[in-house]
Amino acid sequence: MKRKETPKLALWKFASCDGCQLSLLDCEDELLAVAGAVQISHFLEASRAVVKGPYDLSLVEGSITTAHDAERIHQVRRASKRLVTIGACATAGGIQALRNFKDVREFIKIVYATPEYISALETSTPISAHVKVDFELRGCPISKSQLIETISAFLNNRKPVTPPHSVCLECKLRGNVCVMVAHGVPCLGPVTHAGCGALCPAYNRGCFGCFGPQETPNTTSLSDQLSRLNVQRDELVRMYRGFNAGAKPFRRESEKNEE
Ligand code: SF4
Ligand code: SF4
Repeated sequence: MKRKETPKLALWKFASCDGCQLSLLDCEDELLAVAGAVQISHFLEASRAVVKGPYDLSLVEGSITTAHDAERIHQVRRASKRLVTIGACATAGGIQALRNFKDVREFIKIVYATPEYISALETSTPISAHVKVDFELRGCPISKSQLIETISAFLNNRKPVTPPHSVCLECKLRGNVCVMVAHGVPCLGPVTHAGCGALCPAYNRGCFGCFGPQETPNTTSLSDQLSRLNVQRDELVRMYRGFNAGAKPFRRESEKNEE
């Protein structure tokens, strides 16, 4: 009888801060189980040793910001049976997508002493704008438990179970007092994807949307409510332009308030 081969797991980095890859290293107890179930074949953050592809599951961190990376992601796709994007950069373009609203050459001139050495695309785009993506895991950084669930689901040929609802529901599950209703604190929780366990409202702070838009976000309604709390339109623009500024519902709402 033919022996079943251990599935190969690969992690790839594009424009990002490495925080989502660190989430996997940070899994500690669970990491041993993961390492036992897969062959970690390409994970430069953890080891220089590389096993040749094809890979059963690729986790991709980061956005596309250079012409070189726009080509490289196609190589990664070709080498991967399944491709999952992890984090706000890979799923929405990340904080670096703020360049999409301005002229990137202006930023380059201000930031770099020798701007002519810098070769960057006009925009920062999510991986799904370039290749087929099998699943998107949101967050900045991602949730460790959602990451383990996603890896386990793909290894077992099933769909990951990650909640599609908003942070508000997590507030209710945790027993948080709503900071927006009780204290008038602006909060993006009603339109933000669950995953953090409503961390910020638990400390009396509004959510600033680091998990990106939930499945069906009603940003118009939330903006109306925020206006009633005296949040001015320029502030609304800034609220939607965080780590997930490039995610469609947040981008549209920020542009609407900029007009
Ligand atoms: S604090 Fe924010 S996330 Fe929590 S219930 Fe209120 S609006 Fe929703
Ligand atoms: S900003 Fe929102 S999504 Fe991010 S940790 Fe805080 S409550 Fe959670």
